[in-house]
Order: sequence, then C-alpha cells, then structure tokens
Amino acid sequence: MIIGGSEEAVAKVKAMLPQAVADKVIGTFQAEMFAKSKEILEKVKPILRAYEIQKESETIEDLLTKAMKNEDAVIGIENVLNALQEGRIMKLLFLKDYKQSGLACKNCGYLTIQHISKCPYCKGEIHEVNYIVDLIAQKAVEQGAVIEVVSENKKLKESGNIGAFLRF
Ligand SMILES: [Zn+2]
Repeated sequence: MIIGGSEEAVAKVKAMLPQAVADKVIGTFQAEMFAKSKEILEKVKPILRAYEIQKESETIEDLLTKAMKNEDAVIGIENVLNALQEGRIMKLLFLKDYKQSGLACKNCGYLTIQHISKCPYCKGEIHEVNYIVDLIAQKAVEQGAVIEVVSENKKLKESGNIGAFLRF
C-alpha cells in the first residue's frame, strides 16, 4: 500500500492504522493536491521497483541458503534440469537476461545441456534448442510450478543464473 503526502502526514496516518496494515505501507511520495494519476504513477513506480528488488533479493537469499543445506532447493541449470525431470519444481527462478542453449528430445521433450546423440529416456531424436530456459519454464508451468523472472541479482548471477525451490 502506498500513501501520498509528506513524511509527517504518512507517519500520522500509519500511527492510526492497525499494525498489520501499517506494515504494508512500503513507501511514501509527495503528491500535489490535484496531481494527475499519471504523475502519481510515475512517482509510485520507483518505490514499487525498489520494493520488488528487495523482495527478490530476500527470496534469492532463501534459495541459496536452502540449496547450500540441500533443503529442497537447487541452484544451477544441471540441478534444475534434474529436478524438472523428476517433476519436483515448485518455484523456478531465473535472471531475465539468462540465455542458454541446449538439447531437447523431439519425442518426449527431455531437456539437457549435455552433448548426447539420443534421448536417454526414450531413445528419441535429439535436436538443438536456442532458448532452453524458456522450455524449462514452460515445462515447469505444466508441472504446476510458479515462475519468477528476476530482473537483477548479483548473487543469483554468480550462482548460475537459475535455481528452484522443490516440492517436499
Ligand atoms: Zn525422449
């Protein structure tokens, strides 16, 4: 929730709100009395953006910690592919700019970044795919997973650009 007005006015409003609601006030901005809605939207955007980045980085911290402890989370495309094959992906996260090519089975849709000539599952014909991340996301959605495209995150970038929370 965003409340317009001076810091002081917002503090006053927040003080009157129940704690649960007050906690949802994520930022403040100055609004003219008759500001056009477009101008207000322009002021709100960076606040929402900062909030989004904050939420993303919290999720990624959680992902990295869990993956490190082997607690139903994986990092890196190979681990993600294995989890996908097992139908275990609950939430898939990857960086917006992450591009990766790979191979796909024409018959069963098996995806890999290993250089293989035949599908290990159905012996089907393998073909090259340019955007394997898109195919991973598509398959994950079919398995009922949630997809989160991360706009920017240094830690995720250093950890292989992609990761997933797994079903228990
Ligand atoms: Zn196959």
